[in-house]
Amino acid sequence: MPEHSRPKGLVIYGIALLILIGSGTLFIWRSLTGHPLFWEENIGGGNDEDLAYLEQVEQENSEGFMREDDDTYRLEADILVAESLSIWERIKTHEVQKGESLWTIAKDYNIDVDTIIGANELKSHDKIDIGQKLTILPFKGLTHRVEKGESLWSISKRYNVPVEEIIETNSLATQNIKIGEMLVVPGAILTEADKERRLLLARGGLPLFIRPASGRISSRFGMRWGKMHQGVDLAMPVGTPIRAASAGKVIKAGTAGDYGQLVVIKHPEGFETRYAHNSKINVKIGQYIKQGDIIAYSGNTGRSTGPHLHFEIRVNGKPQDPLKWIN
Ligand SMILES: [Zn+2]
Repeated sequence: MPEHSRPKGLVIYGIALLILIGSGTLFIWRSLTGHPLFWEENIGGGNDEDLAYLEQVEQENSEGFMREDDDTYRLEADILVAESLSIWERIKTHEVQKGESLWTIAKDYNIDVDTIIGANELKSHDKIDIGQKLTILPFKGLTHRVEKGESLWSISKRYNVPVEEIIETNSLATQNIKIGEMLVVPGAILTEADKERRLLLARGGLPLFIRPASGRISSRFGMRWGKMHQGVDLAMPVGTPIRAASAGKVIKAGTAGDYGQLVVIKHPEGFETRYAHNSKINVKIGQYIKQGDIIAYSGNTGRSTGPHLHFEIRVNGKPQDPLKWIN
């Protein structure tokens, strides 16, 4: 037995010694490296350095990459939402607050003043009222109410914006547009005449003009041989009836230099129409006439190279392109 118990005892001592050395080594390794032991990991432990590291990562995630990713995601989501919304759902309404001007509002929405003018029927550009509601387009452009005789092509040409862009922006299912229908014209720029016209429309005092006589357009409004042509020329045989483009009062009826036999009619809101080179005048100064009344007969008087009517529309003395005003 003793022969047997001695080696048995040695084995027990040996195992005990190994356990001591092993746990000692683990203890020392644990305190030197700071690495958690397997049972510690199982209960979710760690040391201060690990915790500090984890906190740092979390902070970076919330401030750094993660937030950037969130923003990118949000931006993409916004674009997706925007694309699925119709243009009318994307248009905002702004209620004018104290101290605001068209300029500050445009700046706040990152558009230009002309975009606000082009999307609203403003009676004034300088004076806007507190509480006044403004239509804010999501991009530069304007709104256009379809008028009689207009097509997508004429509107496209008028504002120099491709037809496809108008169709896409307004999600039009058909190329047929209805009178009175409101269209958003993206990227369109208002001319000074357009702005003037819109102001007058909003004030309700806009005279509507008709073509004073039929005839081929032989010369348009604008620069011609380095000189400004202040009206439109309509070629027609001598003696063609010339009609008042709009109702008003005759303020000139007689010979006037280059104009030859001239009739000038004064209309509301600073408008004036001029009819030149006539062969015969049919009205007197001071006479009130209706739209369509025969005021003269065409001719070739004054500085003229052939029988035609030279027709002008002026606003406060400033010549306009008549073709833009004729309905
Ligand atoms: Zn002319």
